Amino acid sequence: MRNHSIYNFQKLMKDLYYNRDSKRGIDKCLLWLQSEQGELIDAYMEGHTGKMEEEVADILAWLCSVCNLLGIDLETAAWKKYPQNCPKCMSNPCNCENLN
Ligand SMILES: [Zn+2]
Repeated sequence: MRNHSIYNFQKLMKDLYYNRDSKRGIDKCLLWLQSEQGELIDAYMEGHTGKMEEEVADILAWLCSVCNLLGIDLETAAWKKYPQNCPKCMSNPCNCENLN
């Protein structure tokens, strides 16, 4: 089964968690998203691949929760900003001079 689009994942997160996320509120959901990013860094520092996989999944799940609360279609927003090229230099692969 490979129809695992970001759109479908965001819809799954809405079905599973929208009621709870609405009660929790956007501020707490944003804190959870930030917290999961810290946990990914911890897993990376430990060199723990299994944990890293879990944390990236958590990050995507919380990002979807935030997008659901904000009424943002994540997949559409991502493709809109990054259609095929780097949005700054318009090249693929990116040719931007600055690595920052
Ligand atoms: Zn670029």
